[in-house]
Amino acid sequence: MTDSLIPILPSVQTFLARAQKLLIGGEWLPAASGETFATLNPATGQPLTRCAAGDKADVDRAVAAARAAFSAWAALMPAQRERLLHRFADLMEAHKEELAQLETLDNGKPFNVAFNVEINVAIGQMRFYAGLPTKITGETYPVSSPGFLVYTRREPVGVCGAITPWNYSLVMATQKIGPALAAGNTLVLKPAEQTPLTAIRLAELALEAGIPPGVFNVVTGFGETAGAALTAHYDVDKVAFTGSTEVGKAIARSAAGNLKHVSLELGGKSPLIIFDDADVAAASEAALWAIFANSGQNCVAGSRLFVQATVYDQVLAALAEKARALKVGSGLDRSVQLGPLISQVQLERVMGYVGQGAAQGAALVTGGERLGGDLAGGYFLQPTIFADVRDEMKIAAEEIFGPVLSVLSFESEDEVIRRANATRFGLAAGVWTNHLGRAHRMAAALKAGVVWINTYDWFDPSVPFGGMGESGYGRELGADVMDMYTELKSVWVKIE
Ligand code: NAP
Ligand code: MG
Repeated sequence: MTDSLIPILPSVQTFLARAQKLLIGGEWLPAASGETFATLNPATGQPLTRCAAGDKADVDRAVAAARAAFSAWAALMPAQRERLLHRFADLMEAHKEELAQLETLDNGKPFNVAFNVEINVAIGQMRFYAGLPTKITGETYPVSSPGFLVYTRREPVGVCGAITPWNYSLVMATQKIGPALAAGNTLVLKPAEQTPLTAIRLAELALEAGIPPGVFNVVTGFGETAGAALTAHYDVDKVAFTGSTEVGKAIARSAAGNLKHVSLELGGKSPLIIFDDADVAAASEAALWAIFANSGQNCVAGSRLFVQATVYDQVLAALAEKARALKVGSGLDRSVQLGPLISQVQLERVMGYVGQGAAQGAALVTGGERLGGDLAGGYFLQPTIFADVRDEMKIAAEEIFGPVLSVLSFESEDEVIRRANATRFGLAAGVWTNHLGRAHRMAAALKAGVVWINTYDWFDPSVPFGGMGESGYGRELGADVMDMYTELKSVWVKIE
């Protein structure tokens, strides 16, 4: 394995060789406590570098810096904010390879995916939001009283907090940084403890782009300390969170203290449904990537695959063959398709579910084992498929967040709608059918914030994304997200 690994850039080596700090008010500072923590490479289990363990004291400093920077940033001409955000995107583009290597080292995902997909998506988001400051408008209203001009203004909410997970650390950050800054807000970002590195590098690039000190701050650290301090802070006006449903609920409770705005992008157990009138070969290929992309650590993972009984055996055989052929290994190996899981804890959690699946009577078709040999130091798991899964089994009901697919059989459209919707989540769904009417009936009937028809896992900065039920509330992406980053003020003017 070692001879085909891509070389680490000198700039990345220099970055990793130093002690990482917090960015507060344009200055790089250690945590007030002096505490640090190691971030690991999940492909080897070895530390990459040490980061500052920010806590409440650092969050207080960062929020104060963001507050101090707020009025000047909000008052900047919209075209000036656009220019700065485009310059930021330009620098991300110029440092694409470096950002992709950091993401691969910190998260484990294949470099090809980090470079060709994740960084491009992050840059695309930043450019989309860079273009918005000049398009944030109010409206006028035809009120039924004489002599008034009534209009609305969209004003920034103030200081925002962003808390992100480790599975797509760059994209999760840019989809919050972009709209927050475009609307004229300032921001404090707390990245996941497992993947803090790209957030730190992004903050350096933001400063280099000329985004004023204090507009974008980064406090690395732990959820229970830094994250909790940010969500509870009385001078934070909005929190955008992506992560687990459990933590999302805790955040909603803690944010109630000052009634700050909250948007929550949480977990899922998304159904992917294949009807027998679909292009079954294409559907099987899509189902493979719907679950195994990013080693299953994907909030929209198509983890419940419902296959119509008439084509069940055919789909299962195709999937098993494809899954066995997937190459799992270090993300620095260009031929690798799936990287490791993020951590030992996550590996144990996922393997616990594999054990549950077998214990509850599901049929293990392929996978289920941790990889050894050269890969024994990392957190690698074989792509795993269970057949003959029943809805009430744990593997069909709970979010696993790993490369474990449950395949379920169904007979009719009504039945599969009922079963697909019988979940507390409601993030995404996929439907494969060549029946036009059925496609649209299903799109309307499924409980999900996004439905993909004859495709899966597509995103665009212009398209809103978010969940129903315990998958969260509020939407990210799209121009509509500006509703969540602005306050709507109505102005009544007596003109007669
Ligand atoms: P997590 O444990 O909820 O952590 C997410 C973030 O919240 C991390 O930065 C974490 O800090 C922080 N945090 C933890 N406890 C906190 C608290 N009490 N107060 C404030 N912040 C706190 O989730 P994860 O394990 O990183 O990510 C996996 C989950 O995210 C899955 O459920 C997945 O479905 C969901 N997800 C959803 C989407 C979406 O868009 N809907 C996208 C990606 C992931 P630490 O790093 O220190 O724990
Ligand atoms: Mg890491």
